[in-house]
Amino acid sequence: MTAPGAEDTRFVDLHMHSTASDGALAPAAVVAAAVKARLALMCLTDHDTVGGVAEAQAAGAEQGIEVSAGAELSAHDGSTEVHLLGLHLVKLEVIEGRMQEFRAGRERRGAQIVAALNAVGVPVTFEAVQQQAAGGAMGRPHIARALIAGGYARDMREVFERWLGAGKPAYVDKERLEVADAIAIVHAAGGVAVFAHPGKDGDRGRVERLVAAGLDGLEVRHPSHTADETARLVGFCEEFGLVQSGGSDWHGVPGPRVLGAMNVPYEWVEIQRERAVRWRGVPA
Ligand code: MN
Ligand code: MN
Ligand code: MN
Repeated sequence: MTAPGAEDTRFVDLHMHSTASDGALAPAAVVAAAVKARLALMCLTDHDTVGGVAEAQAAGAEQGIEVSAGAELSAHDGSTEVHLLGLHLVKLEVIEGRMQEFRAGRERRGAQIVAALNAVGVPVTFEAVQQQAAGGAMGRPHIARALIAGGYARDMREVFERWLGAGKPAYVDKERLEVADAIAIVHAAGGVAVFAHPGKDGDRGRVERLVAAGLDGLEVRHPSHTADETARLVGFCEEFGLVQSGGSDWHGVPGPRVLGAMNVPYEWVEIQRERAVRWRGVPA
């Protein structure tokens, strides 16, 4: 807490990835980068996993930075894929359990696609697809890569046009996580549910639907947003009583995204944590 009248000049970053998903740096190295960026707090938000959080929090305790537990869940609102950030999670086992179930569903679908390919004379194996997925959530790109590596096709385009695209012989509909379910999972884990980078997809209708499903906040500051988009999202936060969030969506690689560059004040975390209190004790 800051003394009354004194300005809190601490900054945070609430969106970043490590090697637990598609980031380039191990969780401890992400923490070191956050220290170097002089952040007071970081929230690790790997795609569909909290697998890097323990390492990051241990590193944070050593290096003197607060590390909050998070995840970025891929979900669907109708046919649109939306990303949902779960921030300040306390029951990590809830997230990991649900994501494991989900990964198992994706693997069942992968096996169905492989069987369909085999049935049309393409002898790719499930093991070859597993190798491409490397323990992550299995999807059609992994199957495509296995087909290309096996010499059955030249490129992704050919794979999707011949076999994997909608209406093709090895097309199997994806097991989807509905965004309302994703919000419920985050709440069951004791965190706040924030619509990630809604600059393009965060129209009024969608925001209203998500608010009705229990959404807590919007990621108003994100490197993909224009100033106009940020202003519109801030307006939605005021109108719907949502908390604001922001982060760099840093993946540990050099480029336009810079850790800490969204200048998110520490105060936003305090407001988010107050909001999270209402979800503590929600059954899984
Ligand atoms: Mn990513
Ligand atoms: Mn995303
Ligand atoms: Mn991200």
